[in-house]
Amino acid sequence: MNPKYYDLYSGLVRPHVLHHASREPVFGLGMIQELNRHGYKLGPGTMYPLLQGMEKRGWLKSSKQKVSQRSRRVYVATHAGRQALKTGQERVRELFEEITADAVTSNASLNGCRHIM
Ligand SMILES: [Zn+2]
Repeated sequence: MNPKYYDLYSGLVRPHVLHHASREPVFGLGMIQELNRHGYKLGPGTMYPLLQGMEKRGWLKSSKQKVSQRSRRVYVATHAGRQALKTGQERVRELFEEITADAVTSNASLNGCRHIM
C-alpha cells in the first residue's frame, strides 16, 4: 500500500489482528508478516505496543509460549474481543457493500448515501 494512505486505513489494523487472534494464538512477528502480506508495513515498534494496548482494553489476552529455547508472548481474542469483532464485521460489511456498489455505479453521488454517519 502506498504510504500516503497509511493513516486513512490504519484503523483496519486492529480488527485484522482481532480476526486472526479469534482463530488462533498470534504473536507480534507473525502479525507483522501477515499484515505485510496485505500491504501494511508495520514495525515491531508499532505492533508490540498495539498488541499490548489491545490487551489493556480487554480485547486480547496474552500468555508466554515456549518455542525451542526461547519464549514468546502469544495473544488470543477474549470474549469481549470476539464481541467487538462481531460488531466490526457488520460495520465492515456495510462499508464494503456501499463502497463497492458506488464503484460499480460510476455516476453514484453523495446523495446515494443512505447511512447517517
Ligand atoms: Zn489476514
